Amino acid sequence: MQENELMQNVLIIGAGLSGLSTAYTLRNANVNLTILEARPRLGGRIYTKKENQLHLEMGATWFGPQHTSLLKLINVLNIPYKVQENGREAIYDFRPNGNIERFQIPHQGAATYKFENGTIDLIDALHQEISASIMYNEVVKTITYDTHFKVKTESNQFEADYVIVSLPPQLVHDSIQVEPALPDLFKDLLSSTHTWMSDSIKFSTAFASDFWKTNQFIGTLMSPHQIIQEMYDHSDLNKAQHGLVGFLNSRYSHVNQQLRKTKVLNQLKSIFTNKSFETKAYADVNWRAEEFTIHKNAKSLVPHQNNGNPQLRTAFYNDRLFFSASETAAQTPGYMDGAVHRGVEVGELLLNKLA
Ligand SMILES: Cc1cc2nc3c(=O)[nH]c(=O)nc-3n(C[C@H](O)[C@H](O)[C@H](O)COP(=O)(O)OP(=O)(O)OC[C@H]3O[C@@H](n4cnc5c(N)ncnc54)[C@H](O)[C@@H]3O)c2cc1C
Repeated sequence: MQENELMQNVLIIGAGLSGLSTAYTLRNANVNLTILEARPRLGGRIYTKKENQLHLEMGATWFGPQHTSLLKLINVLNIPYKVQENGREAIYDFRPNGNIERFQIPHQGAATYKFENGTIDLIDALHQEISASIMYNEVVKTITYDTHFKVKTESNQFEADYVIVSLPPQLVHDSIQVEPALPDLFKDLLSSTHTWMSDSIKFSTAFASDFWKTNQFIGTLMSPHQIIQEMYDHSDLNKAQHGLVGFLNSRYSHVNQQLRKTKVLNQLKSIFTNKSFETKAYADVNWRAEEFTIHKNAKSLVPHQNNGNPQLRTAFYNDRLFFSASETAAQTPGYMDGAVHRGVEVGELLLNKLA
């Protein structure tokens, strides 16, 4: 008998940070590891768009000293990161119900960090370390368990001894059929677990100069009624890129990206009236419309609803089916740290079972 035939087949569904963290934990295990990913790229809610050597951060960006599982991984993988500078003043744009005003930013205790070359550095580093067969554009539709698992995508079928479902719980409920059916209470919990940031529209821009900066103000802006709701500086330390990132008002989720871009740039022009600027790149992602993050008919939930609920960490079918997206984590669920924490935890559970 070949050695391959004796090895257990482990299937990870979803190549976001949690799925890749599990694969990383299993990198030296004697298993056949396959990852099925619906998108044509890795990272899921981590998405650094690269355009003409510019980095546009469309998904997860910031972390802090309390994110211990993430920091541990970043340090082992030796990925450069830096402090997010917010300046000493913020602009509050209260128009049309008020004026444009400046406020002192109160001194923040703990620092906020971001990756020097984009969050995608973390995904690329994990990709380099893992040893798995990664199948892109494979949208899982059904998981069936008998003596082992059969996992069907739109065009293929895969067999496995262990399956790790690394998708946001609500998306599992809304898009994957499991046979024999999971308990009703568990299915209700999946459908009632909020997918963190799935309601956001994130924008990212690059400019030829940092026209907005003064000694006091470096880019922090809030506005309750305009298109830009929150904005922060996103320039490179070495000044290779001058950029701003932030979140847009959800009122604009139904207009096209070109119109959102025009409105964002018009808001900036109306604030920095005495400056002229050249835009090198603009992108935004309306995450509510990303079918591999949230289903179009997903029910509305309160932010962080049921995130971290211990029941989400229940294993099924003789401890062979696990759920592992960030929202299932015992630590900082919803965040990158939660994705690493739970991804590693599931990898370690499997290592113990296979030992
Ligand atoms: C705009 C935005 C900003 C954010 N900002 C921050 C931040 O600043 N700091 C922070 O800590 N966190 C932030 N987050 C949250 C952070 O991105 C997530 O916690 C983390 O990336 C989740 O990783 P995950 O692997 O658990 O899930 P995901 O990244 O959602 O991964 C799930 C994977 O499954 C795939 N998939 C889906 N359906 C199927 C299917 N049927 N078959 C196969 N594959 C499938 C998806 O394509 C995806 O790759 C942000 C998220 C967003 C959207």
